[in-house]
Amino acid sequence: MVKFEKLSLPTEGEIITFKDGKAKVPNQPIIPFIRGDGTGVDIWPATQKVIDAAVSQSYGLEKKINWFKVYAGDEACEIYGTYNYLPQDTIEAIKYFGVAIKGPLTTPIGGGIRSLNVALRQIFDLYSCVRPCRYYSGTPSPHKTPQDLDIIVYRENTEDIYMGIEWEAGDSNCIELINYLNKSLIPKSENLKNKLISESAGIGIKPISKKGSQRHIKKAIEHAKNLQGSKRHVTLVHKGNIMKYTEGAFRDWGYELAVNEFRNDCITERESWILDNIENHKGISIENNARLIEPGFDKLTNSKRDVICKEIKDVIFSISHSHGSNKWKKMILVDDRIADSIFQQIQTRPEEYSIIATLNLNGDYISDAAAAIVGGLGMAPGANIGDNAAIFEATHGTAPKHAGLDKINPGSVILSGVMMLEYFGWNKAANLITKGISNAIADKKVTYDLARLMEPKVDPLSCSGFAEAIISYF
Ligand code: NAP
Repeated sequence: MVKFEKLSLPTEGEIITFKDGKAKVPNQPIIPFIRGDGTGVDIWPATQKVIDAAVSQSYGLEKKINWFKVYAGDEACEIYGTYNYLPQDTIEAIKYFGVAIKGPLTTPIGGGIRSLNVALRQIFDLYSCVRPCRYYSGTPSPHKTPQDLDIIVYRENTEDIYMGIEWEAGDSNCIELINYLNKSLIPKSENLKNKLISESAGIGIKPISKKGSQRHIKKAIEHAKNLQGSKRHVTLVHKGNIMKYTEGAFRDWGYELAVNEFRNDCITERESWILDNIENHKGISIENNARLIEPGFDKLTNSKRDVICKEIKDVIFSISHSHGSNKWKKMILVDDRIADSIFQQIQTRPEEYSIIATLNLNGDYISDAAAAIVGGLGMAPGANIGDNAAIFEATHGTAPKHAGLDKINPGSVILSGVMMLEYFGWNKAANLITKGISNAIADKKVTYDLARLMEPKVDPLSCSGFAEAIISYF
């Protein structure tokens, strides 16, 4: 058994184990929790109460979470000493028990850590950040039809500009790098010859790998396999029109994965057009098919026309039998959208989207924008998932001005708890909480953040009062 310097293990409970990236969850798992800084003091007790009540009502004595308090952030410094924001005890506990849940943590100033949240994701290689955005009826929203949005943002969690490989403008390493790029590497690169980076620039590096992209997109596709109807849809969101070898490569590797590893489950949008055309215009030639799916086909060069005709022949040859006759309509549709257009699309055509698989920075922006449509940060849960660990957490921060007032909305961490229960396969308890939240909001039993936006105005519940209201609606 693992030993800790300052932690007291629960006297009962079992360990979650992982095999091939999948968690095997016993009936009485030990789950480390980090209370969190700031409003964590209010949110965590409310969350624990709701989760325990849902598990107990759903499974009686059969299932139970054995909570294990571990420390990070300000609380850790009080116990382990100044600047010890993320003690080894906590890292060992999460490594050993595999699944943890946390409240928000202050980003420390000093101590050499950029962000505790980013550090946790990197230490445990939690490469997919999953953020569902769905609407609970009655939640005040700035959008006219927020109920149409029901998406899950899969944000890559370990690469991109978030790796923090950057140099400040004027720094000697930065100047050395710029000189090397300007004088050596750029002139050698055929397509970059006339470009010059300003000597006064700062530089950030954006690494995007095939391995990092595909393992992440794989999680998104596996999720889609469990969905029904038009929700079996994964959209690769990227800015590949500008960043061809990073964001564009992410898109290409996504399609490659879909057709190579998930051939029996997936159809790309383009393949679906080709099959649709063949079926709607039976007996037409390959060239005429190409004219229908590729506007301006006749104006293309011969070699481009050949490529398109070959693509159509390949689709007919390889998948018309397995995916044709409308069989593809039951499969997972994989398409892609440019990042800036998806911000419009989730507002103008929200019902068309389901799972958004994207890179780190895009995912950060898109999940906040989507959360705003369905009711804001107080209702935005998240999970960070890897192959050997998972940490569930809210999207929002510590909201320090509301700390200790029993006022803040605990919905986001409670919904992160719902994601954790779904991850366990404890769907009965997860559904009970979702029902409780839906009914509490529909009955205008809400905390200040939602109450202040409701028309007519309602008196807000406290943080703990909201938790009790949720339980009362089970
Ligand atoms: P914040 O803590 O998210 O709070 C900003 C505002 O958002 C709050 O003042 C509040 O607005 C609203 N809000 C946040 N949580 C809410 C909730 N549960 N219910 C209702 N409203 C909520 O952002 P911040 O003030 O920029 O960051 C504070 C600290 O948190 C920083 O140290 C930051 O680094 C850290 N942070 C941590 C995480 C994390 O742990 N995952 C994420 C983001 C930021 P009103 O006052 O208008 O009601």
